Amino acid sequence: MKILAIETSCDETSAAVVSSSPDNRILSNVIHSQIEIHKKYGGVIPEYAARNHLNNIDVVVTEALKIANVRIKDIDVVAATAGPGLMGGLLVGLTIAKTISIMIDKPFIAINHLEAHILTPRLIYTDLDFPYLVLLASGGNFLFAEVKKVGQYKILGETLDDAAGEAFDKVAKMLGLPYPGGPSIEKAASKGNKNRFNYTIPLLKQKGCNGSFSGLKTATKKHIATLRGEMNDQDVCDIAASFQNVVVKFIERQFKKALEMTSSNVKSVVIAGGVAANQNLRTTTQHFAKIHNLQFFAPPIALCSDNAAMIGWCAVERIKANLGYSDLNFPVKPRWQIDNTNAKGKPNSKISI
Ligand code: AMP
Ligand code: MG
Repeated sequence: MKILAIETSCDETSAAVVSSSPDNRILSNVIHSQIEIHKKYGGVIPEYAARNHLNNIDVVVTEALKIANVRIKDIDVVAATAGPGLMGGLLVGLTIAKTISIMIDKPFIAINHLEAHILTPRLIYTDLDFPYLVLLASGGNFLFAEVKKVGQYKILGETLDDAAGEAFDKVAKMLGLPYPGGPSIEKAASKGNKNRFNYTIPLLKQKGCNGSFSGLKTATKKHIATLRGEMNDQDVCDIAASFQNVVVKFIERQFKKALEMTSSNVKSVVIAGGVAANQNLRTTTQHFAKIHNLQFFAPPIALCSDNAAMIGWCAVERIKANLGYSDLNFPVKPRWQIDNTNAKGKPNSKISI
């Protein structure tokens, strides 16, 4: 079975062809990044993002089919991100996907972007079994969940304010580092002293495994103010290192609490989303998994941030789990959170894997 998948929820226009075959799953994964457009504003401008998705989507889809060496009529299912994300971009991707589905008379499936991130490691690691504990940390989200099986997610904790990636982006902006902030901070941090600036780990006295990152932004602002407008390159690297250190320490601590909240048969610890590209976070979480006798999985860096292969893979997982397809009147859902109620759609009768 071959899925044509489309992702346009933020600033990446992406199309992929994903196969359900265990040996060769990603037939193509074309990503057209809009970073250069949004860079000068220090963040994504929704209106520009939507317009650029519209300008590029046909080229990206054509390229994905070409690389996969698949004709459009050989596609079995068309999938697209329906949310959460920016309304304009979602509308572009969803409309194109529905149109192609009508055109080739094949089923359409609307995908939850968060669910796709959470299941992505299984696209690569065939030995990652349920249940597992996952941290999804991206530009717009921060949550811990126990993944019981496809379509069954127990949310253990969520951010109370900003997402982790957003904090990286905002702190980078304060330090004059380029967008996206995560990779810039990581690079600067590698040359910095992580012990120079003091940060308090957030939510120290609170139960549970929620996230909170806005206090760390405020603390950064205060550190910068102590330099009285004379921030040199080393200061920037030291703040970046101290900030990254507290974020990773905080996440490690919340991971411990999240693990206590899971059912006892969790076998693996997983990180996903753009922030999972952070090497410091990967190493720390790997160590955390090891001392708890758990396996550790993280997608390859290229699949951490937004891409259509993960949308196609989520479609494969949902079809395999018999969770059905979507109606063509399925709306965009800019604030679609992970829920278990979207598990039911039309019966999966047409196609079997
Ligand atoms: P996503 O929303 O999943 O596309 O991920 C994008 C977010 O991940 C942005 O906020 C980036 O700043 C962040 N990010 C990307 N790479 C890294 C990194 N190496 N360290 C920390 N954050 C990162
Ligand atoms: Mg994302």
